[in-house]
Amino acid sequence: MCIKLSALLLVIFYTFCHGNQAATWDDISHLNRTTVTKIIHVKSEHDVAEALKFASTHKLKVAISGTRHSQGGHITYPNALVLDMSHFNQITDFSPKERTITVQSGTTWDDIQQKVNPHGLSVKVMQSSNIFSIGGSISANVHGRDPNYGPLIETINKLRIMLANGETMVISKHSSPELFSTIIGGYGSLAVVLEAELSLTHNTLLEKTVTQIDYSAYWPLLQKTLNDNNIALHYGRCSFVKGKTFLKECYAINYALTNNVPVTNELNHEKHITRNKYLFDLSRHSSSGKKLRWHLQKNIVDVPNQKTHISRNNAMRPPIKFLAYHSSNDSDILQEYFIPTTHFIDFMDDIRQELTSQHVNLLSMTLRYLKKNQETTLNYANNNMIAIVLFINIETNEEGLLKAQAWTQQLVALAQKYHGTYYLTYQRFPTKKQFTSIYPGWKHFKVLKEQYDPNKIFYSQFYDHYIE
Ligand SMILES: Cc1cc2nc3c(=O)[nH]c(=O)nc-3n(C[C@H](O)[C@H](O)[C@H](O)COP(=O)(O)OP(=O)(O)OC[C@H]3O[C@@H](n4cnc5c(N)ncnc54)[C@H](O)[C@@H]3O)c2cc1C
Repeated sequence: MCIKLSALLLVIFYTFCHGNQAATWDDISHLNRTTVTKIIHVKSEHDVAEALKFASTHKLKVAISGTRHSQGGHITYPNALVLDMSHFNQITDFSPKERTITVQSGTTWDDIQQKVNPHGLSVKVMQSSNIFSIGGSISANVHGRDPNYGPLIETINKLRIMLANGETMVISKHSSPELFSTIIGGYGSLAVVLEAELSLTHNTLLEKTVTQIDYSAYWPLLQKTLNDNNIALHYGRCSFVKGKTFLKECYAINYALTNNVPVTNELNHEKHITRNKYLFDLSRHSSSGKKLRWHLQKNIVDVPNQKTHISRNNAMRPPIKFLAYHSSNDSDILQEYFIPTTHFIDFMDDIRQELTSQHVNLLSMTLRYLKKNQETTLNYANNNMIAIVLFINIETNEEGLLKAQAWTQQLVALAQKYHGTYYLTYQRFPTKKQFTSIYPGWKHFKVLKEQYDPNKIFYSQFYDHYIE
């Protein structure tokens, strides 16, 4: 009787969804490979509902996954059911007149760009690149290069979600403010995001200029640029070549509005991936390779004192695929620190010293402006900040990981010293104490988790480590 019942359950399990059984799942850092019960390649809302029903009957956890670019175990948990949302990617509504688009959560920014570009429209806020899923972006509450906006939450009109009990809801900042601001930036811990309605802007022609500056002049120049009021996109870069210019020689890259006329210029597609991969790889473990790449960066990619024109959409789809990397010895990881603008110079001086003394293999540092926004429960934008993004290569043996964890904790302590924050989407290297003091909203987050998901169905290594 018992054997028959188990067999029947197994059949139900196989048939209710599309997927692989007892597989492993990992993110692009290749540092969080986890054995899971099953991966469900979600194609419909029904798949999600059935998966949640099954998980709840069988007391399984559910981890949710987009394009897998978070790096801290946010998309996995041992023996969980994984909802792979990346195939749930239809555009369900688009109103060029209202400048809104509604998409299923596995849709990527690239999909949206392709849809809206012929209508002279563009995304308001997204990451620097367009490869990420909307569900993953919402759950991290991402930020990007347009300094006129804070994080993504500012551009989300409404969400359609499914709670752990299978109930679906449409929520907005007006109808359900608490749930809205906790699901956004909540790393898949409260509900499955099914659909999102996003607000769009015009795709206009921008003028790109590059200015070489010392790091100490970066914020004063940016402040002036922001006051000029015609800046559409901005980022900065600082030298990653160890020595005299390390984190001192910087470039401010600005894209100014030329007019407000929408354009429909053809979208660019990434080229020369193999060549760029090769060049990047040269710089991964050699200082002469780093010198060469920095030289090419400022002489070919972002050339000072040269004006070029590009559409907003094309500026928001820079090359990224060439960065994909997999090795059994090492991995490229990202980190991001948000520092109040007034403390930028002090933080740079401290971080330069720390990265040098710890021999950290820094592959790039880029800068952005992040406008204050305190709407989310797990909020990182509690001031007008400079966002400092580090792309780092680390060794992945036990010693290398412990070392990376130790210096990361030092960098987080530096950010704290200057009332800054760090980005939760990367490795679980910061301590729980650092997390709880930088993200005091975690207590309220936990209360809402208990309210909306009392059986803790939605779960991840991130949630388990920092919040549970
Ligand atoms: C090379 C690189 C560049 C980056 N650049 C930027 C940047 O410019 N700006 C920035 O802000 N961030 C940046 N990031 C971080 C990135 O935006 C986040 O990690 C984001 O979450 C990735 O989206 P994803 O689709 O890969 O999500 P995943 O990593 O798959 O998932 C991220 C989180 O979202 C949850 N989730 C996914 N889909 C759903 C859903 N449908 N419902 C509920 N929860 C869901 C997951 O459970 C997980 O907690 C970058 C990361 C990399 C690796």
